[in-house]
Amino acid sequence: MEPMNIVEIARALNGKLINCEHNIIVTGVSTDSRKINKGQLFIPIKGLNFDGHDFIEKAIEMGAVASLSQYDLGARNFPYIIVEDTQIALMKLAKYYRSKFNIPAVAVTGSSGKTTTKEMIASVLSESFSVLKNEGNLNNTIGLPITVFGIEKHHDICVFEMGMNRFGEIESLAAIVKPDVAVITNIGTAHIEYLGSRQGIFEAKKEVFKYFTKENTAIINGDDDMLSTMTNTEYNVIKYGLEEHNTFCAKNIKQHGDEGMEFSLCIDGKKENFFVPLIGVHNVYNALCAIAVGLTMKMNIEKIKSGLAKFAPGKMRMEIFNTDDGIRVINDSYNANPDSTSAAIEVLKNMPCHGRRVLIIGDMMELGDYSEIGHKRVGEKAAESNIDIIITIGEKAKDVCKGALNKGMGDRQIYHFKDNAAAISQLISILLPKDTVLIKGSRVMKLEEIADFLRERR
Ligand code: ATP
Ligand code: MG
Repeated sequence: MEPMNIVEIARALNGKLINCEHNIIVTGVSTDSRKINKGQLFIPIKGLNFDGHDFIEKAIEMGAVASLSQYDLGARNFPYIIVEDTQIALMKLAKYYRSKFNIPAVAVTGSSGKTTTKEMIASVLSESFSVLKNEGNLNNTIGLPITVFGIEKHHDICVFEMGMNRFGEIESLAAIVKPDVAVITNIGTAHIEYLGSRQGIFEAKKEVFKYFTKENTAIINGDDDMLSTMTNTEYNVIKYGLEEHNTFCAKNIKQHGDEGMEFSLCIDGKKENFFVPLIGVHNVYNALCAIAVGLTMKMNIEKIKSGLAKFAPGKMRMEIFNTDDGIRVINDSYNANPDSTSAAIEVLKNMPCHGRRVLIIGDMMELGDYSEIGHKRVGEKAAESNIDIIITIGEKAKDVCKGALNKGMGDRQIYHFKDNAAAISQLISILLPKDTVLIKGSRVMKLEEIADFLRERR
């Protein structure tokens, strides 16, 4: 962060500065009292289980130079700014800070593939620019503002993943960032519990364009039935996908073993070949999006190619390893919803394999009324994709078994366990050498425990 004076911060927040006797310079912002660095401003957030205000003194002891507070703390031996709501103040300050930098921002939203696409975009852009991006999955109303405070003078461009599970969230993130380019990867069923329907999800994702002018560019998956309805009326719309009608349409898609995907693209009448080091056709979509962003930023095609080739996949996303006894594991346990699971099953189906194809699937969360049908559909998809064995973990995942049975899989191909420990205790007797195993489940299911068990077993 570029240093800011506490008086400037209080003014930007319309807050009341208390106990400030001399000029204080803030060199960073944190909402976590355990991770405060010297010189930072502490912003306590009131959550469901904890109130950050209980840790203000701790934050000051750890080196914070000042704090925000939504309560009057009376006379204290440290400066603080009273604001109405610290969460809103965090966002307001991020918006103010962002406005000091006249650099373009790319926003990335969608139901599945946001982090992967954000990382691919950053990898491409880094070939020509100094890029700021959110680390990992810091994509919500706390993670995104905190990322914004990382902008420094040397940055040329920012890439921000934006997540949501409620209407209005993406709009509030877009208000901070004011993106010049915004990406929607797809409209699926993740978080349908709070948004009612896919149409609801589409509307919520479109909030990312709320502050667009006609110079700005939307980059969207044109094969998605909902996104494909968008047109070039109020701003530029670029579509990518596998279907012919798209601006960028991938052809000659080939998987290179476990290494990644090769494909070609026609750009300015010339055929260009690209390689992305991550398997799965869904990752060709993510790569197309990153290429489209690079071209929108007027990058040279060779630089786009080399940036894409340097992309480093995140942990627990299509991570492939072999166990000592010859089982191949595709660890995609980072998260799951019916669409991302369907994409991953497609990868398992197409994986060269001399043994059986095994799906280990845990509960998928936040599906509300769609939960039963969403889980059943995954079971149906697995059965239709010639998966040989399904191992389900958790209460909701029982519906995956029902879906698989409906589509003709037999009882002896399906196992159910209540939790990871129960599954781990039986796994060795179920799996055979040469099996290819895909592991997938929602974050709270921590299915990496299964992957770690398989990896560490000797
Ligand atoms: P989150 O909501 O947790 O932030 P995300 O949208 O950031 O998720 P990623 O973390 O990039 O998504 O990927 C999660 C999983 O979604 C991957 O492991 C993969 O199985 C699947 N996935 C990735 N890209 C796509 C895509 N374009 N379409 C469908 N599924 C995808
Ligand atoms: Mg993510």
